[in-house]
Amino acid sequence: MKLKNIVAALSGTLLAVSLVACGAAANGSGSAQGGSGDKTYIIASDNGFAPFEFAQADNTYTGIDMDLLDAIAKDQGFNYEVQNVGFKMAVSSLEAGQVDGVIAGMSITEERREKFDFSDPYYDSTVCCATTADSEINKLEDLNGKNVAVKDGTESQKWAESIKDKYGFTTTTFKDSATMYQEVGGNSVACFEDTPVMAYSISQYKTTGGKEGKNFKIIGEVSPDDAFASQYGFAVQKGKNTELLKKFNDGLANIKKSGKYEEIVKKYLG
Ligand code: GLN
Repeated sequence: MKLKNIVAALSGTLLAVSLVACGAAANGSGSAQGGSGDKTYIIASDNGFAPFEFAQADNTYTGIDMDLLDAIAKDQGFNYEVQNVGFKMAVSSLEAGQVDGVIAGMSITEERREKFDFSDPYYDSTVCCATTADSEINKLEDLNGKNVAVKDGTESQKWAESIKDKYGFTTTTFKDSATMYQEVGGNSVACFEDTPVMAYSISQYKTTGGKEGKNFKIIGEVSPDDAFASQYGFAVQKGKNTELLKKFNDGLANIKKSGKYEEIVKKYLG
């Protein structure tokens, strides 16, 4: 961990201690929260993957992952701090042992299991291809000779790479979902993304009258039986932080039983 991060982590802990002392609860990165205990786990996450994690107007992060982690931490009595550094950075920080865990709509895959231990799955997902609502591209076959945008280090990128020769398209890689979406309709005709995230963006566009989300349409999706369908899990380094993984699993089971899990998912997905 770089000195700057250590200082940031320490000041986050102090902030949380003072907030707890005042009886206030802070939500978002830079603050430890969740319960008593000496250790503050550092958890890395994506910087924009709504409804799982996304920044609010005051720059604190909210979303299903953020709320699940908070509820689990409270249930199990551990402190944590979230760093919303982006998906690829979160995964590589975990691999390098700079953080204790990752919660980022991260798909549990056999390949990742070689480096990480995953919690019990907490959300089912598939991947899809989407383009702007007014686009003439309506199926994967229409991507022939075109360029598409993909997000670095993701399963949807892998799916795109695995079918690009078959459908005759090229790819450009972006480091987060927001910049990838911006590209669609510009140098790329479509993008590849996790279906729940794309579906949320489309529904946000409709329900906010275009203020939020994207005016996109999904033109291709893998079936839930496809190899690229996945379940999200919380990850720790392989063989390390087994106590944190156990707390996550125990807490997840408890909040599923208590109805809190369902309440959190409903809060974002209705
Ligand atoms: N579920 C996808 C993966 O694990 C994407 C995650 C993300 O972009 N935050 O690759």
